[in-house]
Amino acid sequence: MVFDALDDGGHEQVSYFSDPETGLQSIVAIHDTTLGPGLGGTRILDYESEDAALEDVLRLSGAMTLKAAAADLDLGGAKAVILGDPAEIKTEALLEAYGRAVECLGGRYITSVDVNSGVDDMEIVRRTTDHVVGLRDGLGDPSPITATGVLAGIRACVEHEYGADSLDDVEVVVQGLGKVGSALASDLIARGAAVTISDVSEDNVERFLAEHDADVVAPDAVYDEPCDVFAPCAIGGVVNDETVSRFDCDVVAGAANNVLAERRHAGALADRGILYAPDYVINAGGLITVAEEHRGGNRETAFERAKAIQDRLLSMIERAEDAGTTVLQAADDYANERIERGERTTPAVAGD
Ligand code: NAD
Repeated sequence: MVFDALDDGGHEQVSYFSDPETGLQSIVAIHDTTLGPGLGGTRILDYESEDAALEDVLRLSGAMTLKAAAADLDLGGAKAVILGDPAEIKTEALLEAYGRAVECLGGRYITSVDVNSGVDDMEIVRRTTDHVVGLRDGLGDPSPITATGVLAGIRACVEHEYGADSLDDVEVVVQGLGKVGSALASDLIARGAAVTISDVSEDNVERFLAEHDADVVAPDAVYDEPCDVFAPCAIGGVVNDETVSRFDCDVVAGAANNVLAERRHAGALADRGILYAPDYVINAGGLITVAEEHRGGNRETAFERAKAIQDRLLSMIERAEDAGTTVLQAADDYANERIERGERTTPAVAGD
């Protein structure tokens, strides 16, 4: 069963780790290392079954390969899961045992933060492995860099849709005013865009309005709000069978992961003449940040690489138009071709 799953997904390696003394049960899936070591976070979850954990780690690691390749990073895709309720199992001893597991993969897998694993946990993991990023003395909170990448992606979409290289008077709805959404909304306003915000947290809305001028739309009316660009920066699955006919915009481009409930919704948006910027292309700033940390770059180089999303996305949009396909398909093709060519693009940094 496991070999079939590996073959189906094109995975290179899946490693199971068990440490009865600490209760560690972990699966590391390395999907593809053609472009570099597989980088992906460690998700700690109380899965229904071992099969469910395997399915999740296989899916997530494959997605990391595409994300890294489409971001022009010299990294492959991998991911890890630790099975169990984080409130019960997450001890220093378990995280140290997990670090030893990562270490024995010899650098083919680089771990980082993910659901239920944070910077403090990675500080413990680093005691027993060198192959970990997202550390306290690393490049810090990636959210402003993610926001810069999303802004760059929105610029590409606006350039394509309206032939404009400015965001002046472009109407943008930002759904979710968390770490990324608030930075994005603020950047957009600074560039002359007319921003409408929406969040289930009134506190977050009030906090933003105390410093910025923006309109507000209620969370349940957000999909009907007329605008040029809808920027989902809250939760996944917002483009679904129920919402897809409601959008009154030309572009959907935001930070949220898994924006599409299902892949087919990219086509449904395209059928309505709405340009969809693939989430994994436009929200790559977080991965870019830890990749820069790994290669010894700094926040400035990470911001620069996030800005490069603009030209890359524009070329994907043009490619989709030429091929009569969705931008999502064009992005997948771009990433897969880079892997097929084994093309490494990262310029050397001092010390490389
Ligand atoms: P966050 O938790 O800081 O903010 C999320 C915000 O969305 C909160 O203000 C929350 O109140 C709001 N929200 C939740 N449900 C909502 C709803 N139904 N309608 C409106 N608002 C709602 O998260 P974040 O770090 O800003 O990330 C936002 C999204 O971007 C997530 O999907 C995340 O996975 C993705 N992402 C983040 C990064 C990063 O660097 N932080 C990188 C890549 C992708």
